[in-house]
Amino acid sequence: MYYIDPHIHMVSRITDDYVRMARAGCVALSEPAFWAGFDRGSAAAFHDYFRQLTEFEPQRAAQFGIHHMSWMCINAKEAENVSLSREVIAIIPEFLDKPGVLGIGEIGLNKNTKNEVTIFEEHVELAMKTDELILVHTPHLEDKYKGTRMILDILTSESRVKPERVLIDHVEEHTAKLALDAGFWVGMTLYPITKCTPQRAVDIIECFGTERIMANSAGDWGPSNPMNMPDFIRTLRSRGHDAMTIHKLVYENPLRFMSQARRFNFEPPIPLRVQ
Ligand SMILES: [Zn+2]
Repeated sequence: MYYIDPHIHMVSRITDDYVRMARAGCVALSEPAFWAGFDRGSAAAFHDYFRQLTEFEPQRAAQFGIHHMSWMCINAKEAENVSLSREVIAIIPEFLDKPGVLGIGEIGLNKNTKNEVTIFEEHVELAMKTDELILVHTPHLEDKYKGTRMILDILTSESRVKPERVLIDHVEEHTAKLALDAGFWVGMTLYPITKCTPQRAVDIIECFGTERIMANSAGDWGPSNPMNMPDFIRTLRSRGHDAMTIHKLVYENPLRFMSQARRFNFEPPIPLRVQ
């Protein structure tokens, strides 16, 4: 079955991962800008990273028949350095004309600090000025509920933000409904240790339905698994979900969300059904 992984950090993955993903049916992915595991010291380092995301990685993916798209930002983990964050936000517009750049992300909160909120709001302002989609990282574990509420409050109080153009990612059982009820798209991250397992993600689908919801592996440099999307497909099948429901969740929903982007440049092998 064809699928799209809407959140995966391929700069951290080896070429064999592209091979395994292609074999399992991955036809496209999107790669948000994120924390590299250490704090980068200059805007120039981000400039190189953004070039890697927009120039190098799409070519690497294409060798395996996978279409690569990306998102631009400075991650919440680095937002404590407000002056560096502002320098990075200033160079983002240069990359907003590159093919396959879907918008601003993954922005959000990590420890729910004041500086993180400031930089989150400045990213949202840039996205509104430039008419970009937004991909939002919600905090981990004990900070998740409070952080998700703070993020939703900021977004819903900004009248220019259209919820159908925002994806709230890393939702779990206790946060999915908050975002769905406010009209946002949501993403469930299938992680081996924290976040959701494929089984819990299927539970969430069974509780909240199949509208405006998708899954991703968020594969990165830490404990993570790019094969969690195929595992999610197998789990949906074993729980009795039909092929069209699974196709909608792992292919059509991400496609529908991403194709709102101005520079969306993926030619889907199966066209979207008219809703
Ligand atoms: Zn991520």
